Amino acid sequence: MAVKVIADDCVGCETCVPECPVEAICMNGDKAVIDQGKCTQCKTCIEACPVEAIKAE
Ligand code: SF4
Ligand code: SF4
Repeated sequence: MAVKVIADDCVGCETCVPECPVEAICMNGDKAVIDQGKCTQCKTCIEACPVEAIKAE
C-alpha cells in the first residue's frame, strides 16, 4: 500500500502539508507530492484533504 496524491484532483490548497507528522508532503508547483521514502502511511493527510485528493492504494 502507498498513500498518494491524485494530481488531477489536487487543488493546491496546501492544507495537507503541515498536517503530515513526518513532513513527507511538499508542493510541486500547485500539486502536493508525497515522499514515499518518508511516508509512514499514517493516513492523517487523507482525512485532512478537503477534496479527497489523497488516497491509499
Ligand atoms: S500518510 Fe501520514 S506520513 Fe504519509 S504523507 Fe500522509 S500524513 Fe504524511
Ligand atoms: S489538501 Fe488535498 S487539495 Fe490540498 S494540497 Fe493537499 S492533496 Fe492537494
